[in-house]
Amino acid sequence: MNKKWWEKSIVYQIYPKSFYDSDNDGIGDLKGIISKLDYLKDLGIDVIWLSPVYKSPMADNGYDVSDYYDIEKQFGSMEDMNALIEEGKKRNIKIIMDLVINHTSDEHAWFIESKASKDSPKRDYYIWRDPKEDGSQPNNWESIFGGSAWKYDEVSNQYYLHVFAEKQPDLNWENPKVRKDLYQMINYWLDKGIGGFRVDAITYIKKGNDFKDLKPNGKEKLVHVNGACLNQEGIEEFLAELKENTFAKYDILTVAEAPGVPKEKLSRYAGKDGFFDLLFEFEHVDLDINADGKWYKPRKWTILDFKSAIKKSQEVYNEIGFGALYLENHDQPRSLNKFIKEEDISLVSAKMLAVTYFFLKGIPFIYQGQEIGMTNVKYESIEDYDDIASIGQYKDALSEGYSKEEALAALHRRSRDNARTPMQWDNSENAGFTKGKPWLKVNPNYKDINVEANLKNENSLLNFYKNLIRLRKFSKYTDVIVYGKYIKFLEEHGDVFGYIREYNGKQILILSNFTDKNIQLKLDYNVREVIISNYENIDLNNKNIELKAYEAVVLELV
Ligand code: BGC
Repeated sequence: MNKKWWEKSIVYQIYPKSFYDSDNDGIGDLKGIISKLDYLKDLGIDVIWLSPVYKSPMADNGYDVSDYYDIEKQFGSMEDMNALIEEGKKRNIKIIMDLVINHTSDEHAWFIESKASKDSPKRDYYIWRDPKEDGSQPNNWESIFGGSAWKYDEVSNQYYLHVFAEKQPDLNWENPKVRKDLYQMINYWLDKGIGGFRVDAITYIKKGNDFKDLKPNGKEKLVHVNGACLNQEGIEEFLAELKENTFAKYDILTVAEAPGVPKEKLSRYAGKDGFFDLLFEFEHVDLDINADGKWYKPRKWTILDFKSAIKKSQEVYNEIGFGALYLENHDQPRSLNKFIKEEDISLVSAKMLAVTYFFLKGIPFIYQGQEIGMTNVKYESIEDYDDIASIGQYKDALSEGYSKEEALAALHRRSRDNARTPMQWDNSENAGFTKGKPWLKVNPNYKDINVEANLKNENSLLNFYKNLIRLRKFSKYTDVIVYGKYIKFLEEHGDVFGYIREYNGKQILILSNFTDKNIQLKLDYNVREVIISNYENIDLNNKNIELKAYEAVVLELV
């Protein structure tokens, strides 16, 4: 079997705006990232996924690109980008960029030209439709960030489609010229020597339902756009063509967002013969969200649901080889707040979570700050929030009769800004992120939770992550951790997350207690040794083991 360079890699995601500010304008930048490469090298990572740094009016913090061939001034220049790639290379760290090709910014030259007139040669680069007879929107699709997915243009008396924000018009993938221009741009970046791409919102590129109204659900007038724009029939032809014209020609890593791809189709999407190398699945991180996507109407879920979501995708990864393992990213709240009761968030429970996902089959992704245990922020006022999705949800909640307190509570739990507060480097003002005024308020807990404190403490979460990384990359367990088969274990247990990995006769067992209670387990296996744990002493007596509160342990079986 042909091995890929990334098989043993650990990926670290950087949200540039919040990572490190080198020029004290309050916004993180490329030079700031370069100055922290040694920190990342020391952590042990191999790949950086850089959230977008292309030129952008920043309506969605870079996920609204106005020029794919330029770097946003706030982040630096093309020279800085080249320097980051070079400095990364010196440290064996590859940079993968975010590829946002479902939509552009409305300030992209293509859209400006498209909007200029109905006869513009670029008109069909985007999706324009006439109003209904009464002048209203072409259909009842609701955008992901709230409100209609159509925006009216007075000049041409037509509407354009935006699955995300108004300032993110969707590209018309049916137009071969659009696809050709995108492929050219992708190859431009690959020729520069980047390590690959994280592909944004790619399962939205095909629009369906003949642009007709979606069946209304309940009393709401608008219906979530997913029913017409997510994984629509015919998308696979676009994805195959995309790969053939770009990714297939390079030795790179591609990882795509894949909400809603049915499990039986995953092997078509990812793996050796798939459209991408890896996929980000969403089921395990979105357990608390209903299909209508409204954060203020949370869905109840249990550890069994979490286990079942992971198991389903692990079984697919057994077939296709690898998947993307993650608990956090820039769109998700902090994992400690999602998976652990607030009063139980601690060093021990944070280590337990890390163990739980780090030994799964796949490539682990660490989101900036996760390695030091950063947590959600509780801003007191909507004024403190920046995220376009959060502001949309807040407005929606108020218009549906929720109180301000309830709407804010939903943001405390779910806002994407929870993950976007500045990285906490030390206990100096603004967490050492900037000497200016940070673009988003720092989380006040930075005095206790910061990189410097973690570096000083041998027992810290950061040092624990380093150990996990070392085990994965450079130990006698490397092969079983990287290539081993996932085998379910204690599937029905409501409190303990367990699984086995097996490779060439070697077996390791991973057990995590998701409660604050002691739990007795009887194993059907003999244990050869304890590989790692978040407690000093393991209570193991023959085949009986007692897991203490939030204990996680990895055992080699005989
Ligand atoms: C990105 C988001 C972004 C959206 C639109 C996503 O899935 O991760 O941050 O808002 O795509 O580009």
